[in-house]
Amino acid sequence: MLSIVVPLYNEARNVSPLVERIGGVVDRLSAAYDHEIVLVNDGSSDDTGTAARREMERRSHIILVTLSRNFGHQLAATAGLEIARGAAVVLMDGDLQDPPELIEAFVAKWREGFDVVYAVRRTRPGESPFKLFTARLFYRIIKRLTKVSIPVDAGDFRLMSRRVVDALRRSPERNRFLRGMVSWVGFNQTAVEYDRDVRHTGTTKYPLSKMIRFAMDGITSFSDIPLRFASYFGFIVSAIAFLYAIYVIVSKVFNVRPLAYTPGWASTIVAVLFLGGVQLMSLGILGEYLGRVYDEVKGRPLYLISEVERS
Ligand code: UDP
Ligand code: MG
Repeated sequence: MLSIVVPLYNEARNVSPLVERIGGVVDRLSAAYDHEIVLVNDGSSDDTGTAARREMERRSHIILVTLSRNFGHQLAATAGLEIARGAAVVLMDGDLQDPPELIEAFVAKWREGFDVVYAVRRTRPGESPFKLFTARLFYRIIKRLTKVSIPVDAGDFRLMSRRVVDALRRSPERNRFLRGMVSWVGFNQTAVEYDRDVRHTGTTKYPLSKMIRFAMDGITSFSDIPLRFASYFGFIVSAIAFLYAIYVIVSKVFNVRPLAYTPGWASTIVAVLFLGGVQLMSLGILGEYLGRVYDEVKGRPLYLISEVERS
């Protein structure tokens, strides 16, 4: 069985074309595979639920999971992965930016024996230059910061085999960066390239603030290099200070007037401001990690389901 998991947040007008296009694909594959379409309504405030129920009247094998409130994309996806029973599970966005037709290419690769088939975005039309630039930058930064090889320019649109999904289900971490976790799982992974479509209707549910938080989650859950930044930097500054101290002592002993000695104001203020900034930044980095540790320690459930309906 093939499961298709789609997190939905205020996508009422996209549900019908989405289910129709996924339906076309699973119908073509129906000779070989059973299917289920898991729609996760992530606390939408519009008619996403109603739209999904209307589709359920027309099609069977749809599972509608309603969360108790908006938990965010990654947790909604996690809820869907938890419910999905397929031998292979496809995760995709609900705004038709990920073309469902690519699922056929995924399945072909899966049959060749790959456990993870992820989609790499060759082009991303309709995104702002700012989003394109920050996304590019982010994937390259995280590549440098972590030993887990997270593919560049791949989103969450992918097929995962049962053992990969089970591995994810056994990872209870809260600040989930699914695409990184899937890379961490390992097994045989391969890429399929595609051209991303423009959003069918509606606007992005990832404003800048959520993008930043997501990026922070990605970096903090896969790298501790930022934590070590303070010690590296402290080491470099101490080394420079040590050399400078030698210079000052030698100048004193031989009675030469050291550079920037009498006026002193500029060099002092620069050093104080600079070190103050670095200290605050290091504290901030500590705070980022500490906040996440606190989140984990509380051990609350990742999400709450209010209803599961099946057609
Ligand atoms: N989404 C969600 N919960 C949220 C935000 C987004 O389930 O809190 C879903 C959204 O409905 C969509 C997918 O996550 O199916 C990707 O979101 P979006 O298309 O807004 O992100 P973008 O493509 O702009 O990065
Ligand atoms: Mg989108």
